[in-house]
Amino acid sequence: MAAVKLKAVRKVYSNGHVGVDSASFDIADGELLVLVGPSGCGKSTLLRLIAGLEEATGGSIHIGDVDVTSLEPRDRDIAMVFQSYALYPHMTVRENLGFGLKLRGHSEAEVAERVKDAADRLELESMLDRLPKQLSGGQRQRVALGRALVRHPKVFLLDEPLSNLDAKLRSAMRTEIARLHRSLQTTMVYVTHDQVEAMTLGQRIVVLDRGIVQQIDTPMNIYERPVNLFVAGFLGNPAMNFFRGSLNSGGTVLSGEGAELAVPPGLPAGKSIVVGIRPEDLQRVDGASPPNNIRLSVLVDLIETVGNESFIHASAGAWRIIVRSSPYHLPPLGSTITLQVMPERLHFFDAESTQRIAVTS
Ligand code: ADP
Repeated sequence: MAAVKLKAVRKVYSNGHVGVDSASFDIADGELLVLVGPSGCGKSTLLRLIAGLEEATGGSIHIGDVDVTSLEPRDRDIAMVFQSYALYPHMTVRENLGFGLKLRGHSEAEVAERVKDAADRLELESMLDRLPKQLSGGQRQRVALGRALVRHPKVFLLDEPLSNLDAKLRSAMRTEIARLHRSLQTTMVYVTHDQVEAMTLGQRIVVLDRGIVQQIDTPMNIYERPVNLFVAGFLGNPAMNFFRGSLNSGGTVLSGEGAELAVPPGLPAGKSIVVGIRPEDLQRVDGASPPNNIRLSVLVDLIETVGNESFIHASAGAWRIIVRSSPYHLPPLGSTITLQVMPERLHFFDAESTQRIAVTS
């Protein structure tokens, strides 16, 4: 077990592309940290830099007390799990699990004991004599995890390990990985583009965009206080609603194209801003509503129902809005409904810099 420290880590590929720019953060000993962002944002590059599979162009990486920046992968005491399971097809599960240990010169007894422990933890005992082709995708991924486990590494690095699995299996394996982490208490860095995996697995999340770290915090802190428009729009499904417009001279009304929204005091009067409201923070007005709540009339144009909930798609002028709603008593298409939101649930962003605006009232 060990903490990991990244200081101003930078990777410029030989074609001049900046894969990761000045990434600095610490991963605590025993922490499960998730690197998340859209495809191509530099997540795998960052993980491969920690693993030593890519050479950093600048900065330093420490694992425990050791500066590993220029060490070979095999000398970093890490184990990696990839999306492609990369199992040896002609070896049984037992052989796949033990092979790396044998190569490193561990005794047969030691190998057998570690393989047994990993098989117990991952419920692979009954499959030890099977070949990979005789396993399901989920079982193969468990073997890949087991192969990392037997190494007793200081740090686990997981690169989109569940992407090849179907949705149901993915959520089952997600739970298994969370349980495994809880029982092992080993430092884990987990790369995914899937925001649900990031939110549910990560003790903290690092959100990346175009090679740059945008925000590092606990999942709920990021969800509740995204630092910029990118993070606000990336986490949450359906995504946060954005209302672009200009504030009036009193700073109390946001005017968009063909619609207006009252806003609480404390915003920069006259400025172009973006107001963000999550779909679950908008409710239909049903009779009286608390006096402080902000109201907005919208035109309903589409409803999606997914069984336990519905998404009402609507518009107010040029603003597009999605409301998370109960699937019962839905409004008719083409009707105008009034929505309300508690003022403290609004997010504000500078339209130009895209950064969050702290309200000064
Ligand atoms: P992610 O894992 O977030 O999808 P990657 O870390 O794989 O993204 O890649 C980050 C960016 O660096 C991408 O734009 C990708 O095209 C680029 N990239 C990755 N590997 C190389 C390479 N060997 N040479 C040049 N560019 C690369």
